[in-house]
Amino acid sequence: MDANCYVNGAWTPTTNRFDVLDPATGSVVGTAADAGPETATAAIAAAHVAFESWAATPAQDRGAAMRRISAALLDDIDRIADLIVAEQGKPRGQALFEVRYATQWLDWFAEEGRRAYGEIIPTHVPGKRLHVQLKPLGVAVAITPWNFPVAMIARKLAPALAAGCTIVVKPAEQTPLSPTALFEAIERAGLPPGVCNLVTAAEPEPIAAALLEDPRVRKITFTGSTEVGKLLVRASATNLARVSLELGGQAPFIVFDDADLDAAVAGVLASKFQVNGQSCLCANRVFVQDAVADDFTARLTGAVERLRVGQGTEDGVDIGPLIDARGYEKVAAHVADAVALGATIATGGSRVDALTGGYFFAPTVLTGCTDAMRCTSEETFGPVTPVLTFNDEDEVVRRANASRYGLAAYLYTRDLGRALRTSERLEFGMVGVNDPMPASPTAPFGGFKESGLGREGGHDGLEAFLEKKLVSFVA
Ligand code: NAD
Repeated sequence: MDANCYVNGAWTPTTNRFDVLDPATGSVVGTAADAGPETATAAIAAAHVAFESWAATPAQDRGAAMRRISAALLDDIDRIADLIVAEQGKPRGQALFEVRYATQWLDWFAEEGRRAYGEIIPTHVPGKRLHVQLKPLGVAVAITPWNFPVAMIARKLAPALAAGCTIVVKPAEQTPLSPTALFEAIERAGLPPGVCNLVTAAEPEPIAAALLEDPRVRKITFTGSTEVGKLLVRASATNLARVSLELGGQAPFIVFDDADLDAAVAGVLASKFQVNGQSCLCANRVFVQDAVADDFTARLTGAVERLRVGQGTEDGVDIGPLIDARGYEKVAAHVADAVALGATIATGGSRVDALTGGYFFAPTVLTGCTDAMRCTSEETFGPVTPVLTFNDEDEVVRRANASRYGLAAYLYTRDLGRALRTSERLEFGMVGVNDPMPASPTAPFGGFKESGLGREGGHDGLEAFLEKKLVSFVA
């Protein structure tokens, strides 16, 4: 595919282009427009012009348009999944899941947009009436990552459109093709020109500056690393645009001695190895209570050894390649650091030799890990499972909370009291109790501490694109 920018309802080529690579083979799978600041500014201008009538469109009609996007995505699901596999590398089943997950966000917010209710507040002054109205913020800029190239856009696009905002999306440079297919679905759904705009670029900085410094931009919504999130907060100070950030994580996965160990192993596989460990929600530190540590680790190692690594296009593959050389080197460095500090490789630990040409790292279990290792204190973003042991509840809660991140945490137990106590004490935005997949369009998704600002999903997700207006009447 040769992807172009989508500005004001038209496909807009640029003079410069860049190659998109398949992380499984290193081969070129397409090209994308390398937009400069002028294209970004044109996209903002289009979104700004479109805002007034989109905001005035009844929420029911906006919802109908969103459901048409969802239907258009499902009509094209096979091709879009192929594009995700080609540029992102994940197994095809996971790519199909991603497209369906994206449609869930569109469908849910298509309804929730109708529930942007205001309030009437009583006052002590006779004849005075206080009305609180919810108004869309205006033009939103969405900057998104490569791990879920379609779903992360849908998570921002859906509440923005539902609230009545217009949007300019800048996808990650590694994965511009599947977002382009999403915008083709938007085109087929017949949204008015300028409501949704796509700007692709090889380097984020120049284009981000044009997007963030424009006073017409009233909302910045970002998913990516904590470091870039902090840069965006600083940039937002120029015009005080509202900011929502979904950032990195360091998820603890706690297995108590009364847990169903097979369910806990299945939970680690689901949480850790989705998208090859390249998800913000991934279990990064598996804490196992002493009494079951050997049994659990043996079962986990056996299950990880059975995972099949290969190209996402092949049937039966569980794990694809890492996204690029930088991602691969970080994973290898974290394993080397852990081993140097005394960890043992129970399985994996190195490149998959049979698969040359791509960034394939074997699914890995490390035992004997401590809290001081890079793999237990930084985000590894790869298929590495460090196992740590603990003695009691107080200890594991303290160690789990000792992180600058606070996105997701998991705990496995059959003891209701323990589940309640521990889940309440964990300083994380999402806690899965016997549940490796707590995320849903219907519920607030986001992090404590340096894992983010604000929430996507649920009514909070809609409010993130709305401003409150007080109208005071004397009559
Ligand atoms: P990244 O922050 O490098 O890139 C994300 C996006 O930001 C890309 O579109 C990129 O082009 C853009 N970007 C990079 N530098 C920029 C700059 N200086 N100015 C403006 N934009 C810039 O992150 P990544 O490595 O691509 O993605 C992985 C990170 O994303 C991980 O930390 C992961 O935890 C996080 N993530 C978080 C969530 C969540 O919901 N919390 C979901 C997925 C990924």
